Amino acid sequence: MLIYPSVESLLYYAQAHLLLDDLDVIWARNLLLDELRLHDYVQYEVDYDAIEALDRPDTVLEPLVSYAVENGIITEDKREYFAGKLMNIVCKRPAEVTDMFNDLHNRSAAKAFDWLYDYGIKSDYIKLTKISENLKWEAKGTRGKLEITVNTCRPEKNNKATAEALKTKNESYPACSICKENEGFAYGGQIRQTLRTVPLTLGGEEWFWQFSPYAYFNQHGIAVNSEHVPMKVDDATIVKLFDFVDFMPNYFIGCNAALPRIGGSVLTHDHFQGGAKQMPMHKAGTLVRLKSKEYPYIDMCIVDWYNSVLRLSCSNRAKLIEFAQKVNATWENYSDESVDIVAKTDEQHNAITPIVRKADDKYIIDIILRNNRTDKTYPDGIFHAHPEYHNIKSESIGLIEAMGLFVLPGRLARQTAEIEKYLTKEVKYSEANLAPDMVCHKAMIEKLLKEAGSGKLSPAEAKLNIKDEINRVCEEILVNTAVFKQDEQGRAAFLRFLAVLGVEAK
Ligand SMILES: [Zn+2]
Repeated sequence: MLIYPSVESLLYYAQAHLLLDDLDVIWARNLLLDELRLHDYVQYEVDYDAIEALDRPDTVLEPLVSYAVENGIITEDKREYFAGKLMNIVCKRPAEVTDMFNDLHNRSAAKAFDWLYDYGIKSDYIKLTKISENLKWEAKGTRGKLEITVNTCRPEKNNKATAEALKTKNESYPACSICKENEGFAYGGQIRQTLRTVPLTLGGEEWFWQFSPYAYFNQHGIAVNSEHVPMKVDDATIVKLFDFVDFMPNYFIGCNAALPRIGGSVLTHDHFQGGAKQMPMHKAGTLVRLKSKEYPYIDMCIVDWYNSVLRLSCSNRAKLIEFAQKVNATWENYSDESVDIVAKTDEQHNAITPIVRKADDKYIIDIILRNNRTDKTYPDGIFHAHPEYHNIKSESIGLIEAMGLFVLPGRLARQTAEIEKYLTKEVKYSEANLAPDMVCHKAMIEKLLKEAGSGKLSPAEAKLNIKDEINRVCEEILVNTAVFKQDEQGRAAFLRFLAVLGVEAK
């Protein structure tokens, strides 16, 4: 029977990469055999060196899953579920993972997080192969060196549905997709048998950390409140962000604004996002140097970035937190109708997106000022991506994108390939023949065709032109989200707001 070597391969893989104890091998083998509906066994030699060299389980896992499909043990649509079930047999349990993580953390926070991330990849929880299928590029021509990914792993979210979810009480179990109760849960779209979280204490509350299975960047994860309570950004939130970077000084951590259209896709459950990545906004320099009489030791500036960002840095944690809280409280109630900023109507509109990191023993907090008001001209948001850019991105612009890393919907991979054919003249463009899901790109296609002139482009040129156009649109979207535009009027308005905080240009 040819399947036995595959069973042996997975067991050896788990010994080599997942800390499967020698004493657990027979037990794990029998559980695997039961899942495969086999009741005898013949031990085979496998290529131990090759298995030790693997960086992910795909090649040892796939033959077992295919065997299950071919033998009618599972249907084709249950592949991911079954793979999770098998991996879970050979993985450490949550408490053992936490013990290991804490042991490592006592020596080095970076080592602990590196280990947990690697364990996530090795256990097939972090879908490295799927992530690598995403299109990804750095926008070289843009002012702020934006990074763009077309994410083929996750479905496109809808702002109205996100806002709606906030109103309706969810009776389902788990209450939402990031609840702690997802650990080991596997039903519907949530296949989380191998999810392993580790506990955090933030602001005296119980939280936990988990990596994202479809990471947007290196070691991308979320810190999540252990209770299913709605997102908020208040004084305590800022303390929690600082607690996080004390626990993990190598990561940035940020909290989305807690309002629809300018927040993340999950507003119903309090959480932060972070990871080991220097975001494009972090690399942006100073636009206006600032000073405060009350906080002379805090370095402050307006960041030279598309949207409206205040950067504060200081080694005195308590004072920096105090001032950041003041900025939050002041912005929450600040209106300036000359630049369309209305803090609240019958609902709250102003909110901040704070992002904290540490560098050279200094804390740095970037505070992005946001507003989610709508009007007749912009029913989706005055400071949201404007309608002419919704063919590229209509979802809410959360903190990852506000910092210049765009996560665009997967449909664009297919749609841009179609547009390419028009530019290379492989397919003749005509408005009447546009497929229904391509109609949204009409203006963009016609613009690109006009720019290309009468000749036909090579596939490489066509790809480049499309990317350049997407880069430009992403820049425009960020400008749309700026509450203070970078013109004379906007700059003056920004300084008027800062004056309320006792801050002026240096
Ligand atoms: Zn939840």
